[in-house]
Amino acid sequence: AKKAGRGELLIFNDAMTAVAKDGLVIDGALRGAIAANEFYLVYQAITNANTGKMTKVEALLRWNSSLLGPVPPDRFIPVAEDSGMIIELGTWVLEEACRQMGSWKQSALREVTISINVSAWQLADPQFVTLVSQALMRNGLSPHQLELELTERVLIEDAANVQAVLAQLRALGVSVSLDDFGTGYSSLSYLTQFHLNTLKIDRAFVMDIEHSERSNSLVHAIIAMGHSLGLQLVAEGVETAGQAEILEKMGCHYLQGYHISRPVPPDELLRFAGNRVSA
Ligand code: C2E
Ligand code: CA
Ligand code: CA
Ligand code: CA
Repeated sequence: AKKAGRGELLIFNDAMTAVAKDGLVIDGALRGAIAANEFYLVYQAITNANTGKMTKVEALLRWNSSLLGPVPPDRFIPVAEDSGMIIELGTWVLEEACRQMGSWKQSALREVTISINVSAWQLADPQFVTLVSQALMRNGLSPHQLELELTERVLIEDAANVQAVLAQLRALGVSVSLDDFGTGYSSLSYLTQFHLNTLKIDRAFVMDIEHSERSNSLVHAIIAMGHSLGLQLVAEGVETAGQAEILEKMGCHYLQGYHISRPVPPDELLRFAGNRVSA
């Protein structure tokens, strides 16, 4: 048992400690990490399945902590969500991605669009749409060059507000995609209830597409449904040429995964520009 403030006792049993401590340590280290410049973005190519050309990139956050070393996003993002710090962090990502895209204006990457991941907290922030439009304007970007990736969790958290925010984003010209489709609280009603441009089929289904009849049928059905609803489809976690071929034949519009490229620093993207990208 550990003494906390005002005579309260915080009890840490053995099972709790590892996880809780880990979270606390990360939480502590996260404070000040933006100011200390410990974050950076890497970018993963997303190709047009037919032409093989890179048309979009997904920005993925990386943290090299001075205290803890490199910490993967799956470990620090949940902590930042718990403390609400994800709002500040997400704003940094938005700014940095737009700055990066602005710097590509005179290069072969000028046509590439950027997708960024947005958490529920950010969407609930009344400032969100303003922040997005300011970041675009400041960097002289067209809203069509930005796509926001949301998870199903975001949609159910505060459906009425989210619907309003998505309508504002649509009016602005920013695209919205539904990330990790099929893993969450999947309700097909989301697909008509919210204005979405793109579905990203989760890696969990793509992974087995060559060997599992069930995964294959499921992905096939998701793609058919996406087509009939006028949605763009991105397959995530494409790791083999076989998967890429099956997905292209099924009519999936875009491919993302290690078969195409790992996430890379921005300067490494230039070699993809205009070329057919293959592993
Ligand atoms: P996500 O949005 O589903 O991003 C895709 C993740 O899959 C990335 O992991 C990427 O590196 C990984 N990946 C891509 N292709 C393959 C593949 O072929 N095989 C395998 N095994 N993995 C692949 P990463 O970068 O570790 O990010 C993990 C998660 O952290 C992301 O999942 C996203 O939910 C979250 N995240 C990352 N950056 C941000 C951010 O800026 N904001 C927020 N809110 N979340 C972020
Ligand atoms: Ca994503
Ligand atoms: Ca995803
Ligand atoms: Ca995921």
